[in-house]
Amino acid sequence: MKWIQSAARPERQADGAILWDGVVIDISNVYNELRLRKEAEASLAKEREFLNVIIHNITDGIVVCDASGKLTLFNNATREFHGLPVESLPAEQWAEHFSLYQPDGQTPLSITEIPLFRALEGEIVENAEMVIAPKHGSTRILLASGQAIFDPLGNKVGAVVVMRDISDRKKVELALQQKSLDLEHALNNLQNAQLQIVQSEKMSALGNLVAGVAHEMNNPLGFIAASLKQAKPTFGDIIEHLKLYQSSLPNASDEIKNHAEEIDLDYSLEDLPKMIDSMTMACDRLKNISTSLRTFSRADKDYKVPFNIRQGIDSTILILKHRLKANEQRPAIEVITDYSTFPQVECFPGQLNQVFMNILANAIDALDESNANRSFEEIKLNPNRITIKTSLENGSVKITIADNGKGMTEEVKQKIFDHLFTTKAVGNGTGLGLAIARQIIVEKHGGQIIVESEVGKGTKFVIQLPLSASARKS
Ligand code: ADP
Ligand code: MG
Repeated sequence: MKWIQSAARPERQADGAILWDGVVIDISNVYNELRLRKEAEASLAKEREFLNVIIHNITDGIVVCDASGKLTLFNNATREFHGLPVESLPAEQWAEHFSLYQPDGQTPLSITEIPLFRALEGEIVENAEMVIAPKHGSTRILLASGQAIFDPLGNKVGAVVVMRDISDRKKVELALQQKSLDLEHALNNLQNAQLQIVQSEKMSALGNLVAGVAHEMNNPLGFIAASLKQAKPTFGDIIEHLKLYQSSLPNASDEIKNHAEEIDLDYSLEDLPKMIDSMTMACDRLKNISTSLRTFSRADKDYKVPFNIRQGIDSTILILKHRLKANEQRPAIEVITDYSTFPQVECFPGQLNQVFMNILANAIDALDESNANRSFEEIKLNPNRITIKTSLENGSVKITIADNGKGMTEEVKQKIFDHLFTTKAVGNGTGLGLAIARQIIVEKHGGQIIVESEVGKGTKFVIQLPLSASARKS
């Protein structure tokens, strides 16, 4: 078959007849080409339609702009995100129309922060999080990725950005975060409870024992003290009586004279009252110790009571005396106290004593560690020292406990109040001392505890306590 095109023209002849003068052209080729082009156009349109269906039905937002920033594609999901049927917009107007915010949901995105703009500028945008809060529509969290697009010759022709709504995922993430916060909180509470149990268990067990011993010591002590009081005049009487004998029997027998010499009678008569005096003094000291033991180990009530801080510190020092005195490695640790007078503090005395104990024990540890490479003589020249000061400042009591021990690094300092943090060998440290101290001072007494320290110089703990319990109930 052939396609032809014919054309003819009438031409009148001399005889009047009409003759058709024409040509016939075979146009099969042209026609075929035309048909092919038509077919190609049709299939292209179909493909485009198919692509459009995909682009507009996908749940991710797709937005494309040309090289000038004019929006050339804006799929249905994007329109939905923006809550309005936004038509092509010049880049300068994006920011006004798009209610886009930083991930905080508060700070608006400036034009240069909008992912499509960044993509057009040549940046490869990957998973940029932003919040979209349109006037008509719901607030969503979007994750945007995109980049510039180039034609086959390498000319930039625009940019494309794909946005995914991650609001639900975020919600789940936030819920998870909240859960883990809750868990952390619960763990903290548990750790605090553990500290309280440890310290109250230890205190009550030790406290009961010590208080019991101190109490039991009191009776025999009282008896000795009373007897000594009695013994002194009695011996005085006996000595006087003996002297009477001596004066009324000037010619004593040899036996008596020899015996007197043997037992060094003159010396004994002189020494005996002194012996009784020192026994009385020792007895007084024992009584002090007993009182201190009872002060230190006194059981706390479940409400705060007025307490003399100074007594608490002194009794704690006394309990630690065995660790402070001289040994083969070092002379005694000097303890310098500088107390200012102030009223009693409403507190849990047993707990505060525990704090003093923990801090002082740490100071002794730090001093002993600083002695490690020093000789006895060296230490003597620059003696181990603990300085304790109390003062009243703006209605709160300030207690400073400083040592000139080994000090600590900034890194250690950050962690000392952490539960179970210790730099000491197993058996020497539990890492609970300062955690307990912090809990008692801050949580139980509404006070403050801070530390200053310098490696090689020493450490200073400063405790601040409100005078009255009303500051914070536990
Ligand atoms: P522990 O004494 O059982 O190690 P603490 O909670 O009492 O636990 O102390 C924690 C850590 O703080 C100690 O291991 C030590 O490293 C540091 N530390 C505490 N007090 C001092 C101090 N006076 N000088 C130097 N380091 C100290
Ligand atoms: Mg300790």
